Amino acid sequence: MTAAGSFGGPQRTCVGCRRVAPSEALVRLTVREGRVTLAEPRPVGRGAWLCPQPECFEQAVRRRALDRALRARVLIDDDLCRRFTGVCEQRKAVM
Ligand SMILES: [Zn+2]
Repeated sequence: MTAAGSFGGPQRTCVGCRRVAPSEALVRLTVREGRVTLAEPRPVGRGAWLCPQPECFEQAVRRRALDRALRARVLIDDDLCRRFTGVCEQRKAVM
């Protein structure tokens, strides 16, 4: 693990595994019109943060952490899972 704050950016907590990481290392989820959107880190509205790995997404879903973080009833469907997995793959390709 690198020391906290080594990126110099804001720190966020993954709602899945509770790990604290720089916001640019996490995936931001927001709700728009009742649908979850996967957004790039931008300070717009209420967001939930997840590590770019499916295990964290599953944990967050199981604990209903997304509902709590986003203050909304979040619809988890296959499409959302696929999109999240897609973002994970993109991140891996970059790293
Ligand atoms: Zn995590």
